[in-house]
Parts: sequence; structure tokens; C-alpha cells
Amino acid sequence: MDPEQIYYKSTRSNDAGITSAQAIVKGMAPDGGLYVPEAMPSLDMPVCCYSGMDYPELAYKIMSRFLTDFTEDELRQCIMKAYDEKFDTPLVAPVVKAQDVFFLELFHGATCAFKDMALSLLPHLLTLAVQKSGTGREIVILTATSGDTGKAALESFSNVPGTKIIVFYPSKGVSLVQERQMITQEGANTFVCAIEGNFDDAQTGVKEIFGDMDLNKKLDANNMMFSSANSINIGRLIPQVAYYFNAYIRLLEKGEIAENEEINIVVPTGNFGNILAAYFAKTMGLPVNKLICASNENNVLYDFINTGVYNRMRELKLTMSPSMDILISSNLERLIYELCDRDPVKLSGLFSELADKGVFEIDEEMKEKLSDFWGGYATEKQTLNAISEVYRNHNYLIDTHTAVAYYVYREYAESTSDRTKTVIAATASPFKFPGSVIKAISNNPSEYSGLDEFGLLEKLSLLTGIEVPAPLRGIGSKKILHNNYCTIDSMKDFVTRSLGI
Ligand SMILES: *Cc1c(COP(=O)(O)O)cnc(C)c1O
Repeated sequence: MDPEQIYYKSTRSNDAGITSAQAIVKGMAPDGGLYVPEAMPSLDMPVCCYSGMDYPELAYKIMSRFLTDFTEDELRQCIMKAYDEKFDTPLVAPVVKAQDVFFLELFHGATCAFKDMALSLLPHLLTLAVQKSGTGREIVILTATSGDTGKAALESFSNVPGTKIIVFYPSKGVSLVQERQMITQEGANTFVCAIEGNFDDAQTGVKEIFGDMDLNKKLDANNMMFSSANSINIGRLIPQVAYYFNAYIRLLEKGEIAENEEINIVVPTGNFGNILAAYFAKTMGLPVNKLICASNENNVLYDFINTGVYNRMRELKLTMSPSMDILISSNLERLIYELCDRDPVKLSGLFSELADKGVFEIDEEMKEKLSDFWGGYATEKQTLNAISEVYRNHNYLIDTHTAVAYYVYREYAESTSDRTKTVIAATASPFKFPGSVIKAISNNPSEYSGLDEFGLLEKLSLLTGIEVPAPLRGIGSKKILHNNYCTIDSMKDFVTRSLGI
């Protein structure tokens, strides 16, 4: 095999590697594992040489190390179409300094959350990948969402020829703004359904549908196939690696850090996709000291990082940071794979324990390798206080997810006295969660008690003098186009009905 080529293999077997195009089309490996690069690519030049490149150029440099079966022209075309005027700034992901920390703003895309960073690219990669792999089939994107992925995926796949997209979201467990964004989605190829249950139920249901042999045969007979827009798809993760390099380069250009100086990265975490992308960046050669994993009250990852025990046997709490209300963090599997020295047998053992008993513990050797990470969590009250503190002291408005990260960073800095320059991933616009944000920053929150989330959106703008982002303007009066509800057991029926098969 060409040593410059990167192939992808499953975390759960040693089956022969496939190309990135094939991995992107499949979404998930047939054995239930996730695709990972057979060897982690490295940079083609020292990090500081990327200085001066704009976002698309940098994205090309990083992504081309992973997607070696795409031509330069193909990849550049995809990137150009992804990071265009859908983003409200040509910087795509600006870095903002607030006193002693830097916020990497990942919410300037079409749906105001970081999911846009990868999902504005994925449809382009996927349609090309389908052509390359020569299947000629219609792609059915099946997605479970904790709130933000759903809308970002709907928006990006809407009316893309050769695709249909079906999104399941937990009926209780997304914000009103998030829900309204999804159920007002236009596009004849889009299908949206609320489910009775939480995000983990939705994700498990979707994984089962992926693995359902009969249903897959039925799709096959209709010249269709499933793929995924969740971060289990490697095509979601790779574009995310680029923005961590972007953050580093911007700090370097501004003279905030010296060449090769290490930074910390704090990520508000749910499904472990975003922080895994930062880990990939570190593995490729980005100078990173600690990866700080911030959880809300669903602190299963905090426990894991601190004890080596992953235990999902607990009640899922609904918090004001709903996109992190997750107990089964899919992408942790890719980290565990690295921790166990890429041993699919050992990994499969751990994950069958998780499936059977709801808990596994990694051994001492694996625990040692977890030292790249630091884990913390914020309670609801601490989250509100963080929003208020950053707004009052730094005149900077953050959303509830970013607030969890900020709180955990403060705790990290206090308990370690590490003063490494730190980048916090700002994952959503505060206008997606106006109720909680107003509650945090208003001197008189009761003044707003009669208003719904859509009214609060306007009030938040008045209160802060910040304009409502264009994609959220007037969202409360948009026409509702999807009105579906089903139980976990009837998710499959919703799929077949939507597809007309
Ligand atoms: C999805 C999401 C997260 C969690 O990201 P993961 O990749 O699932 O860990 C955090 N914040 C916001 C706003 C999100 O939409």
C-alpha cells in the first residue's frame, strides 16, 4: 500500500482498511465499531508554517492529510462550498480574547452551533464519496440529535440531490429554539420526528436501525442505503480537527503564544466528538498540554477520566445545556481504542460489558494514558454563574454549553495552578438558549417571566445590544412543517413510511 495513503478500519475488528470515501459513505462499520485511521496522519510541515493561511486553506492542509483518496481539486471545491457566506464572518471561526482566556467561536454558521463547522462540509464530501465508491444509490442520512446536530444536518442536506435525511430528537430534552429550528425545516427530502425518550434512547434506536438486516435489504432493493451525519461518521470528525489548528495559528499570528508553545483546550462535551477532534489534532502534532473535558450534571465522563470507570447506570438529567445531556458518549470508543493500543479484541470486551452491565473499567496501563485529559463538571447553578461572571467581568456573552467549559476551566486553573494559555471551544450562540442566558445576566429576571423563548430572544438582544443572529430572527413565527411523534419501537416505521418503502 502507498505509505502516504490513509486507510480506515473498524475499532472492533482487524478487517482490511477501506478508503475515507468508503468510510464516509458507510458511516459506521458493519461489526458495530467506528472507523478510525489505520495510522494517524502527521503534518507535512511544522505547525508555525501554517501562519498566514486563511480558514479554507488551513482546512485544506489539515483535511488532505486524512482524506488522501480525494483529489486536491475535489477537496478544495468541497471546502469552498462549505465555508462561504453561510458563515457570517470570513474568519469562519474567530478567536476572541476575554481577559486571560481565548474563546474559539464555532457558532458563526447557518444554525448557530459548532455542528455547522463539519456539517456544512459533509454533504459535499458524501456526494463525492458516493460517486467515488460507485454505489450510485440514494443516501438516507439517519440522525439522532441532542438538539444541534439535527438542525445543522437538516440545513446542510436539505434539497441535496441523491440524499434524504431523517432526524430523531428527544421530545423533552431540546430547547424550544432548537426544536423550532428543526420543525420549520424546508426541503422535500427532510423528515423530522420527536421521540418519546431521551437522546440516548434516540441514539440507541438509530444504531439499531443501522444494524437491522431486514431493513437494510429493503433499502438495498429500493436502491438506497443508510449513512450517518452523527459524529460516529469520520467525515464529521475530520473537518473539526482543522479548527483547533486555526485557533493555534491565530494566537501565534497575534503574538499571544510563541512558536511551539503549548496551549490547553477546553471542550464542553457530550458525545465526545469535539474533544476527540482536539485529541486528533494533538496526535498530529499540535502543541497541546491538557485537553480539558467539561461535562454538565450528566458527569459520566468526569467520573471516567478521574477513576477509569465508565458507568452509564444513572438517571439522565435534563439540563440547560441540552446538547450535552448524554450518558453514552459514542466517540469515547475511538479514544478507548487508542488507550488499549488499538487492540480490537480488548476494546470489544469492554464495550460488550458496557452493553450487558452498563459499566466497564479500564486497566492501570490504559489509565496512565488518560493523562492527556483533565475532567470536570459544572452544576446548573455554576453554569448560570459562569455566564453572569463572563458577561459582567469581561463583557462577553456565552451560551450555557460554553459556560460549562468556562466554569470547569476556572476550576482547573485553581486546582492545578497551570498557567498555560487556554482556548475554550464556544460551541453555540447564546441566542439559542435565551431563557437561561437572560436568567443569568438580568438583574431582574422576573420581569421576563411572561415571555416564551422566542420573546426572550428579542429581549436578550435589547438587554445586551447584540443583534439576534440572522438564522434565528423571527424563528417564533415561522411555519411549522414537521409534526411527528413516535415511540422508540416505532422509529423503524417512521423510517419506512418517510422513505415510502
Ligand atoms: C453537540 C454539542 C456539544 C457536545 O459536543 P460533542 O461533540 O457531542 O461532545 C456541546 N455544545 C453544543 C452547543 C453542542 O451542540
